[in-house]
Amino acid sequence: MGYRCPLCKGLFNSFHSLKIHIIKSHAHKVCQLCGKETKNLTMHYRMMAKNDFLHLIVSCIVTECTYIDDGEIRRLVINLVKVILDENIPLDIISKKANQTENIKALD
Ligand SMILES: [Zn+2]
Ligand SMILES: [Zn+2]
Repeated sequence: MGYRCPLCKGLFNSFHSLKIHIIKSHAHKVCQLCGKETKNLTMHYRMMAKNDFLHLIVSCIVTECTYIDDGEIRRLVINLVKVILDENIPLDIISKKANQTENIKALD
């Protein structure tokens, strides 16, 4: 059982090692999901989580959803994210949405 990094699709055997990986390897000044420049990526993921599914997922990994006060909801969200990132689930589910957005933009 492994988890896939939503940013580079690398495979990790625990949720914790995925968290360490994202914090260490994806610590750029520019968000790899939306291209926005930010001084605090963790805060950025959290702010954007309300509007964007992928930011929500990454924010859940790096913060373990500690900003959700309700412990039960926090566990539910983390479990959901773990299911989505399961190695057996094709990440295309997520990338397809991104492609569709690009197509819509191209039509404009
Ligand atoms: Zn990665
Ligand atoms: Zn972003």
